[in-house]
Amino acid sequence: MAIMVTGGAGYIGSHAVAELLAKGEEVVIVDNLQQGHRNAILGGSLYVGDLRDADFMDTVFRENEIDAVIHFAANSLVGESMTDPAKYYHNNVYGTLCLLDKMKEYGVQRIVFSSTAATYGEPENTPILETDRTQPTNAYGETKLSMEKMIKWFDHAHGIKSISLRYFNAAGAHESGQIGEDHQPETHLVPLILQVALGQRQHISVFGEDYDTPDGTCIRDYIHVSDLADAHVLAVEKLRQGGASGVFNLGSGNGFSVKEVIDIAREVTGHPIPAVAEARRAGDPAVLIASSDRAREQLGWKPKRDNLQAIIASAWAWHQAHPQGYKDWK
Ligand code: UDP
Repeated sequence: MAIMVTGGAGYIGSHAVAELLAKGEEVVIVDNLQQGHRNAILGGSLYVGDLRDADFMDTVFRENEIDAVIHFAANSLVGESMTDPAKYYHNNVYGTLCLLDKMKEYGVQRIVFSSTAATYGEPENTPILETDRTQPTNAYGETKLSMEKMIKWFDHAHGIKSISLRYFNAAGAHESGQIGEDHQPETHLVPLILQVALGQRQHISVFGEDYDTPDGTCIRDYIHVSDLADAHVLAVEKLRQGGASGVFNLGSGNGFSVKEVIDIAREVTGHPIPAVAEARRAGDPAVLIASSDRAREQLGWKPKRDNLQAIIASAWAWHQAHPQGYKDWK
């Protein structure tokens, strides 16, 4: 039996594919390469196409014996979602509807879903529990919450079991040095900081120094991308063993401010990394820190690389070896 990984050529998807291959799983990757990279795929079979293309999806489901889907394929930029929400509803929400319809048609009963801390919006509590209120402050988070809910109703009606994994801030790169983070355009804090260290940017912008936090900058919970990837492998195993549907936070439980992340990157790279204060970015909550107790207890998940210095060092190794990222842009 094979595992279908949608968005398997993307940042988190490619790291999940690497972990699945290491476990000896047969992997079928579906990616439209809008954001993904061919070079990020270390094995398995790649089908290039879109979830919304029914004929294409029929081919993939007919040619493979799929018993579980891990669904990463989505647009994921908070800022862009605020200016172009239609893109997010079309690709994320409608794309997921198309996928679930095909899973129903072909009798595939398990899905692990790539969700986000952005489903919570401004948190009620710190650390955030899965039972806390979900009130997204941006269209990206709203579409991910809609996708989670749609998946839940497909369980209710059609018995498709699901595990939704709400990621906090993914960072770092694979220990092999072969895959890492490369978005176009890049908007994420860690790779942007490292671009400064590589001399590709003059400075890093700090979006808001007037938040209600000790140093005034936003606090986030950074988690190594390979630890996130491990959780997907455990989630598939749980569903294969007949486990119930559920929602799980994935974070380290530690918060770092934007200024602290920059300081750690200065230590790791030995570069001064000039920082310039700028206005707040729309849709950014002040503090996002996960409680991942549920994932630890019910999935047996334990982050192995939970030291921000080491996480940034792994990203730095990849960025130094690949200063232009993957070279296969189209
Ligand atoms: N951030 C920043 N400057 C940048 C990019 C990001 O100050 O050039 C801040 C951003 O406002 C947030 C944190 O860094 O508080 C993490 O942002 P990122 O986009 O990496 O992840 P997100 O939290 O949006 O998933």
